[in-house]
Amino acid sequence: MDLSLAVDAKNLVKVFGKITALDGLDFKVKSGDIFGLIGPNGAGKTTALRIVSTLIVPTSGSVRVYGYDVVRDPEEVRKLVSYLPEEAGAYKNLSGDEYLNFMAKFSSKSKKSIDATVGVAAEISGLGNRLRDKIKTYSKGMKRRLLVARALMTKPKLAVLDEPTSGLDVLHSVHVRETIRHYAEEQGIAVLLSSHNMLEVEYLCEKVALINQGRIIAEGSPEELKAKNEVDNLEKAFAKVVGLA
Ligand code: ATP
Repeated sequence: MDLSLAVDAKNLVKVFGKITALDGLDFKVKSGDIFGLIGPNGAGKTTALRIVSTLIVPTSGSVRVYGYDVVRDPEEVRKLVSYLPEEAGAYKNLSGDEYLNFMAKFSSKSKKSIDATVGVAAEISGLGNRLRDKIKTYSKGMKRRLLVARALMTKPKLAVLDEPTSGLDVLHSVHVRETIRHYAEEQGIAVLLSSHNMLEVEYLCEKVALINQGRIIAEGSPEELKAKNEVDNLEKAFAKVVGLA
Protein backbone atom coordinates (compact mmCIF):
# COMPACT_ATOMS: atom_id res chain seq x y z
CA MET A 1 0.00 0.00 0.00
CA ASP A 2 1.45 3.37 -1.03
CA LEU A 3 0.31 6.02 1.45
CA SER A 4 1.93 8.83 -0.53
CA LEU A 5 -0.74 8.22 -3.15
CA ALA A 6 -3.86 10.26 -2.52
CA VAL A 7 -5.74 8.36 -5.21
CA ASP A 8 -4.89 5.08 -6.87
CA ALA A 9 -7.59 4.10 -9.37
CA LYS A 10 -7.17 0.82 -11.17
CA ASN A 11 -9.11 -0.47 -14.14
CA LEU A 12 -12.23 1.37 -13.08
CA VAL A 13 -15.42 0.36 -14.84
CA LYS A 14 -18.88 1.81 -14.25
CA VAL A 15 -21.89 0.64 -16.17
CA PHE A 16 -25.29 2.34 -15.92
CA GLY A 17 -27.76 0.03 -17.65
CA LYS A 18 -26.67 0.09 -21.29
CA ILE A 19 -24.20 2.94 -20.82
CA THR A 20 -20.58 2.24 -20.01
CA ALA A 21 -19.58 5.48 -18.32
CA LEU A 22 -16.08 4.28 -17.35
CA ASP A 23 -14.31 1.70 -19.40
CA GLY A 24 -11.11 0.78 -17.57
CA LEU A 25 -9.79 3.99 -16.05
CA ASP A 26 -6.37 4.06 -14.40
CA PHE A 27 -4.88 7.10 -12.72
CA LYS A 28 -2.85 8.08 -9.70
CA VAL A 29 -2.86 11.34 -7.77
CA LYS A 30 0.14 11.99 -5.57
CA SER A 31 -0.21 13.65 -2.20
CA GLY A 32 0.11 17.43 -2.66
CA ASP A 33 -0.59 17.33 -6.40
CA ILE A 34 -3.39 18.98 -8.31
CA PHE A 35 -4.64 16.49 -10.86
CA GLY A 36 -7.11 17.43 -13.59
CA LEU A 37 -9.52 15.23 -15.46
CA ILE A 38 -10.54 16.89 -18.69
CA GLY A 39 -12.74 15.67 -21.46
CA PRO A 40 -15.92 16.32 -23.40
CA ASN A 41 -19.47 16.14 -22.03
CA GLY A 42 -20.35 12.62 -21.02
CA ALA A 43 -16.72 11.43 -20.97
CA GLY A 44 -17.06 10.03 -17.46
CA LYS A 45 -15.41 12.71 -15.33
CA THR A 46 -18.21 13.16 -12.81
CA THR A 47 -18.69 9.41 -12.55
CA ALA A 48 -15.00 8.96 -11.69
CA LEU A 49 -15.09 11.76 -9.10
CA ARG A 50 -18.22 10.34 -7.49
CA ILE A 51 -16.62 6.92 -7.14
CA VAL A 52 -13.50 8.42 -5.53
CA SER A 53 -15.78 10.31 -3.11
CA THR A 54 -17.68 7.08 -2.20
CA LEU A 55 -21.01 8.38 -3.52
CA ILE A 56 -21.36 5.53 -5.99
CA VAL A 57 -19.55 2.21 -6.25
CA PRO A 58 -17.70 0.98 -9.31
CA THR A 59 -19.00 -1.95 -11.33
CA SER A 60 -15.47 -3.34 -11.22
CA GLY A 61 -11.93 -2.16 -10.60
CA SER A 62 -10.71 -0.41 -7.47
CA VAL A 63 -9.89 2.95 -5.97
CA ARG A 64 -7.75 3.53 -2.94
CA VAL A 65 -7.60 6.89 -1.17
CA TYR A 66 -4.45 7.13 0.95
CA GLY A 67 -4.54 3.36 1.04
CA TYR A 68 -8.22 2.99 1.99
CA ASP A 69 -10.45 1.16 -0.43
CA VAL A 70 -13.54 3.21 -1.38
CA VAL A 71 -15.80 0.16 -1.33
CA ARG A 72 -14.42 -1.66 1.73
CA ASP A 73 -13.55 1.38 3.89
CA PRO A 74 -15.87 4.20 2.80
CA GLU A 75 -16.05 5.65 6.33
CA GLU A 76 -12.27 6.09 6.45
CA VAL A 77 -12.24 7.58 2.95
CA ARG A 78 -14.97 10.08 3.89
CA LYS A 79 -12.82 11.38 6.76
CA LEU A 80 -10.15 12.34 4.25
CA VAL A 81 -12.18 13.60 1.32
CA SER A 82 -14.23 16.68 0.66
CA TYR A 83 -16.38 16.66 -2.45
CA LEU A 84 -17.72 19.61 -4.41
CA PRO A 85 -20.46 18.42 -6.77
CA GLU A 86 -20.86 19.93 -10.21
CA GLU A 87 -24.32 21.13 -9.42
CA ALA A 88 -24.97 21.62 -5.78
CA GLY A 89 -27.64 23.42 -3.90
CA ALA A 90 -27.20 24.95 -0.50
CA TYR A 91 -29.96 25.41 2.03
CA LYS A 92 -31.64 28.45 0.57
CA ASN A 93 -33.27 29.74 3.74
CA LEU A 94 -30.05 29.85 5.71
CA SER A 95 -27.62 32.71 5.49
CA GLY A 96 -24.15 31.95 4.15
CA ASP A 97 -22.78 32.14 7.70
CA GLU A 98 -25.43 29.81 9.08
CA TYR A 99 -24.78 27.31 6.30
CA LEU A 100 -21.02 27.28 6.93
CA ASN A 101 -21.59 26.90 10.68
CA PHE A 102 -23.98 24.03 10.08
CA MET A 103 -21.49 22.27 7.79
CA ALA A 104 -18.51 22.96 10.09
CA LYS A 105 -20.26 21.11 12.92
CA PHE A 106 -19.88 17.84 11.02
CA SER A 107 -16.11 17.99 11.33
CA SER A 108 -15.39 20.26 14.30
CA LYS A 109 -16.66 19.81 17.82
CA SER A 110 -15.63 22.80 19.95
CA LYS A 111 -17.03 26.27 19.35
CA LYS A 112 -13.49 27.54 18.90
CA SER A 113 -12.65 25.14 16.12
CA ILE A 114 -16.05 25.64 14.44
CA ASP A 115 -15.43 29.39 14.45
CA ALA A 116 -11.93 28.90 13.05
CA THR A 117 -13.25 26.65 10.27
CA VAL A 118 -15.99 29.14 9.38
CA GLY A 119 -13.38 31.93 9.42
CA VAL A 120 -11.31 30.03 6.85
CA ALA A 121 -14.40 29.54 4.70
CA ALA A 122 -15.38 33.20 4.93
CA GLU A 123 -11.96 34.17 3.64
CA ILE A 124 -12.01 31.64 0.82
CA SER A 125 -15.50 32.68 -0.26
CA GLY A 126 -14.64 36.37 -0.43
CA LEU A 127 -18.33 37.04 0.26
CA GLY A 128 -17.72 39.48 3.12
CA ASN A 129 -20.90 40.99 4.55
CA ARG A 130 -23.05 39.08 2.09
CA LEU A 131 -22.48 36.00 4.26
CA ARG A 132 -25.14 37.45 6.55
CA ASP A 133 -27.73 37.34 3.77
CA LYS A 134 -29.90 34.38 2.91
CA ILE A 135 -28.47 32.07 0.27
CA LYS A 136 -31.63 32.47 -1.81
CA THR A 137 -30.56 36.05 -2.48
CA TYR A 138 -27.17 34.98 -3.89
CA SER A 139 -26.22 34.92 -7.55
CA LYS A 140 -25.13 31.62 -9.09
CA GLY A 141 -21.46 32.62 -8.78
CA MET A 142 -21.87 33.60 -5.13
CA LYS A 143 -23.42 30.21 -4.34
CA ARG A 144 -20.54 28.50 -6.10
CA ARG A 145 -18.02 30.46 -4.04
CA LEU A 146 -19.83 29.49 -0.86
CA LEU A 147 -19.73 25.82 -1.85
CA VAL A 148 -16.07 25.92 -2.82
CA ALA A 149 -15.36 27.49 0.57
CA ARG A 150 -17.35 24.72 2.26
CA ALA A 151 -15.34 22.08 0.39
CA LEU A 152 -11.95 23.53 1.36
CA MET A 153 -12.61 24.92 4.85
CA THR A 154 -11.89 21.67 6.66
CA LYS A 155 -8.53 21.35 4.89
CA PRO A 156 -9.28 17.85 3.65
CA LYS A 157 -6.41 15.54 2.70
CA LEU A 158 -8.07 15.20 -0.68
CA ALA A 159 -10.38 17.76 -2.26
CA VAL A 160 -12.47 16.39 -5.11
CA LEU A 161 -13.80 19.34 -7.07
CA ASP A 162 -16.17 18.87 -9.98
CA GLU A 163 -15.91 21.95 -12.19
CA PRO A 164 -14.86 24.24 -9.33
CA THR A 165 -15.19 27.50 -11.26
CA SER A 166 -18.29 26.65 -13.24
CA GLY A 167 -20.52 29.73 -13.50
CA LEU A 168 -17.94 32.11 -12.05
CA ASP A 169 -16.82 35.29 -13.74
CA VAL A 170 -13.16 35.81 -14.62
CA LEU A 171 -12.21 37.60 -11.42
CA HIS A 172 -13.87 35.12 -9.13
CA SER A 173 -12.48 32.20 -11.11
CA VAL A 174 -9.01 33.62 -10.54
CA HIS A 175 -9.74 33.96 -6.82
CA VAL A 176 -11.00 30.37 -6.55
CA ARG A 177 -8.05 29.01 -8.56
CA GLU A 178 -5.56 30.84 -6.40
CA THR A 179 -7.28 29.54 -3.30
CA ILE A 180 -7.10 25.97 -4.57
CA ARG A 181 -3.45 26.37 -5.42
CA HIS A 182 -2.67 28.00 -2.12
CA TYR A 183 -4.32 25.17 -0.21
CA ALA A 184 -2.57 22.50 -2.20
CA GLU A 185 0.81 24.15 -1.67
CA GLU A 186 0.48 25.31 1.93
CA GLN A 187 -1.48 22.44 3.37
CA GLY A 188 -0.07 19.70 1.18
CA ILE A 189 -3.60 18.61 0.29
CA ALA A 190 -4.20 16.73 -2.93
CA VAL A 191 -6.78 18.00 -5.37
CA LEU A 192 -8.59 15.98 -7.98
CA LEU A 193 -10.66 18.22 -10.21
CA SER A 194 -12.56 18.14 -13.44
CA SER A 195 -12.79 21.04 -15.81
CA HIS A 196 -13.77 22.13 -19.28
CA ASN A 197 -11.54 25.14 -18.97
CA MET A 198 -8.13 24.31 -20.39
CA LEU A 199 -6.61 27.57 -19.22
CA GLU A 200 -7.64 26.68 -15.71
CA VAL A 201 -6.15 23.25 -16.02
CA GLU A 202 -2.88 24.58 -17.41
CA TYR A 203 -2.64 27.06 -14.59
CA LEU A 204 -3.52 24.68 -11.79
CA CYS A 205 -2.60 21.12 -12.55
CA GLU A 206 0.68 19.29 -12.16
CA LYS A 207 -0.83 16.44 -14.07
CA VAL A 208 -3.72 16.06 -16.44
CA ALA A 209 -5.58 13.09 -17.83
CA LEU A 210 -7.54 13.50 -21.04
CA ILE A 211 -10.60 11.32 -20.85
CA ASN A 212 -12.91 10.33 -23.65
CA GLN A 213 -15.68 7.73 -23.66
CA GLY A 214 -14.67 6.46 -20.24
CA ARG A 215 -11.01 5.95 -21.09
CA ILE A 216 -7.86 7.91 -20.55
CA ILE A 217 -6.46 8.73 -23.94
CA ALA A 218 -3.48 10.83 -22.85
CA GLU A 219 -1.82 11.74 -19.59
CA GLY A 220 1.03 13.92 -18.40
CA SER A 221 1.88 17.42 -17.25
CA PRO A 222 0.35 20.21 -19.36
CA GLU A 223 3.87 20.88 -20.67
CA GLU A 224 4.41 17.27 -21.65
CA LEU A 225 1.06 17.04 -23.42
CA LYS A 226 1.73 20.21 -25.38
CA ALA A 227 5.25 19.14 -26.33
CA LYS A 228 4.19 15.66 -27.33
CA ASN A 229 1.47 16.98 -29.62
CA GLU A 230 3.60 19.88 -30.86
CA VAL A 231 1.01 22.50 -29.98
CA ASP A 232 1.07 25.61 -27.83
CA ASN A 233 -2.00 25.03 -25.69
CA LEU A 234 -3.94 22.18 -24.08
CA GLU A 235 -7.06 22.81 -26.12
CA LYS A 236 -5.16 22.03 -29.29
CA ALA A 237 -3.49 19.04 -27.66
CA PHE A 238 -6.87 17.67 -26.71
CA ALA A 239 -8.32 18.23 -30.19
CA LYS A 240 -5.32 16.45 -31.67
CA VAL A 241 -5.54 13.48 -29.34
CA VAL A 242 -9.25 12.96 -30.05
CA GLY A 243 -8.55 13.28 -33.76
CA LEU A 244 -10.29 16.61 -34.35
CA ALA A 245 -7.16 18.43 -35.47
P1 ATP B 1 -20.00 16.56 -18.31
O1 ATP B 1 -18.74 17.20 -18.80
O2 ATP B 1 -21.14 16.76 -19.26
O3 ATP B 1 -20.34 16.89 -16.89
P2 ATP B 1 -18.90 13.96 -17.53
O4 ATP B 1 -17.59 13.71 -18.21
O5 ATP B 1 -18.86 14.41 -16.12
O6 ATP B 1 -19.75 14.96 -18.42
P3 ATP B 1 -20.54 11.77 -16.59
O7 ATP B 1 -21.53 12.63 -15.89
O8 ATP B 1 -19.59 11.01 -15.75
O9 ATP B 1 -19.74 12.61 -17.69
O10 ATP B 1 -21.36 10.75 -17.51
C1 ATP B 1 -20.73 9.69 -18.24
C2 ATP B 1 -21.82 8.87 -18.92
O11 ATP B 1 -22.54 8.15 -17.95
C3 ATP B 1 -22.83 9.69 -19.70
O12 ATP B 1 -23.19 8.96 -20.87
C4 ATP B 1 -24.01 9.78 -18.74
O13 ATP B 1 -25.22 9.91 -19.44
C5 ATP B 1 -23.93 8.46 -18.01
N1 ATP B 1 -24.44 8.54 -16.64
C6 ATP B 1 -23.91 9.22 -15.61
N2 ATP B 1 -24.61 9.04 -14.48
C7 ATP B 1 -25.65 8.22 -14.82
C8 ATP B 1 -26.74 7.65 -14.10
N3 ATP B 1 -26.91 7.88 -12.79
N4 ATP B 1 -27.58 6.86 -14.77
C9 ATP B 1 -27.42 6.60 -16.09
N5 ATP B 1 -26.40 7.09 -16.83
C10 ATP B 1 -25.53 7.90 -16.20
